Amino acid sequence: MKTVSKRELLEAIMTDSLGHFINGASTVGKSDRKHDIYNPTTGEVQHCVTLATRSEIIAATDAAEAAFPAWAATNPQRRARVLFKFKELVEKDSENLAKLISSEHGKTLPDARGELQRGLDVIEFACGAPHLQKGGYTEGAGGGIDVYSMRQPIGIGAGISPFNFPAMIPMWMFSIAIACGNTFILKPSERDPSVPLRLGELMMEAGLPPGVLNIVNGDKESVDAIIEEPRIKGITFVGSSDIAQYIYAGGAAHNKRVQAFGGAKNHLVVLPDADMDNVVNQLIGSAYGSAGERCMATPVAVPVGDETAERLLEVLKPRVEALRIGPSLSEDSDLGPLVTGAHRDRVAQYIQMAVDEGQELIVDGRDFYLEGYENGFFLGGTLLDYAKPTHQSYQEEIFGPVLQIARTANFEEAIALPSQHQYGNGVAIFTRNGAAAREFAQRVNVGMVGVNVPIPVPVAYHTFGGWKRSGFGDTNQHGPEGFRFWTKIKTITQRWPEDVQASQFVMPTMD
Ligand code: NAD
Repeated sequence: MKTVSKRELLEAIMTDSLGHFINGASTVGKSDRKHDIYNPTTGEVQHCVTLATRSEIIAATDAAEAAFPAWAATNPQRRARVLFKFKELVEKDSENLAKLISSEHGKTLPDARGELQRGLDVIEFACGAPHLQKGGYTEGAGGGIDVYSMRQPIGIGAGISPFNFPAMIPMWMFSIAIACGNTFILKPSERDPSVPLRLGELMMEAGLPPGVLNIVNGDKESVDAIIEEPRIKGITFVGSSDIAQYIYAGGAAHNKRVQAFGGAKNHLVVLPDADMDNVVNQLIGSAYGSAGERCMATPVAVPVGDETAERLLEVLKPRVEALRIGPSLSEDSDLGPLVTGAHRDRVAQYIQMAVDEGQELIVDGRDFYLEGYENGFFLGGTLLDYAKPTHQSYQEEIFGPVLQIARTANFEEAIALPSQHQYGNGVAIFTRNGAAAREFAQRVNVGMVGVNVPIPVPVAYHTFGGWKRSGFGDTNQHGPEGFRFWTKIKTITQRWPEDVQASQFVMPTMD
């Protein structure tokens, strides 16, 4: 892989094509295959990204392989210091980064700032690697025998990330892997790759040696090359469920450890005793914020009892109608456009599907029109009532500003609905009754639960991961689970007899 000359960089800028970041330097992509990157607010193509070939994944792997021995041998506190410095640099550059996220993804600036902060939370956590990577020690496990374990880096790791958190999820992926002494190849979403490339530059500025973090832009071709590359030992994936399952199966068949997080359809249960103004305040943010393009959004509200449903609708409907939808960079927008026109059209088709299935359309966002931005990928907030488990539009992830109400008759039905859904990422319950909330949290078949909290994304030192078709693999992202994923354990049983001949060797027993 050659690095970029000034002339090539100039050419790349003139063609507005983003390349890759390999071995500590920006490189111009070799292939002719390009992917357009839109400005979702105007609908215009603002630039494009060159999609990598298999040879570029091999070049990134070569760089990661060459960098691995020295990085793995660097003491853990020095590795952590790079992340401390990186955190400072991201904070310093946060307004520019937020604008970059917003201009390619379409989320509002407050959402983009929030995303950066949630990414930095995990960077801060990863700075604790010297403590979190420690092994255990048992003195005197047998006569003169001590046993200790160490957590060693697995080697080269890869991360394949989705469009909806172009900064946060890459930071979650590479921070713990790198803190543990691994080297890394990130394959960001081809829809908003600018921020990940900038994060790579900031890691270099923070003192990361070349080759420890490599960023290769691409699509299925690069993902397949990652799956098949024998030198890559672990893959962390976040995206839709079918691709998650494909990567989980493919990675395992190539003897890699894989964690693959998929789609979601999170329910927010409203018990009759809940404070309805509070419920609606929370629902407005969690269902419509970031135009619903969050895996922890709550696109289904589950009022228990018709009376609860009517009170919910009474407060909710005017709030949905009053949502301020506008340019992503405007401070006055509650939500911006969707990521692409194709995705906006897909969400609109789901709205029609729900109507055809018999759901009642309370607010129709398809009529939304923003003067001056007629080609932007906008959709208004949409509200549907009477969603049923037999409806395809209820079973599938819509990933847009669409809230479906699924009424239930009682508490048992409200536990059963999210428990029986194919996805099991997050769920929330709103109530003043502690016993009901406790029972719900214990029994519901979902990975992350909020009690009077609408988007229950756990803090960095706990762990993130869904159940059922929302997560494939055994370990979660970040928290102590992240350290387990990115290290392999080695256990040493040792004896240092003073006199080998005279000593009695007694193996420790299982009891
Ligand atoms: P996506 O599955 O389309 O893409 C994710 C990644 O997979 C991208 O890097 C993409 O290039 C790659 N990819 C796409 N098609 C592929 C194929 N056929 N073969 C191999 N690789 C392929 O997902 P997206 O649209 O970018 O992101 C939205 C999805 O991500 C939603 O389903 C959302 O729920 C999910 N998500 C899940 C979590 C979680 O933690 N569970 C978090 C964020 C997003």
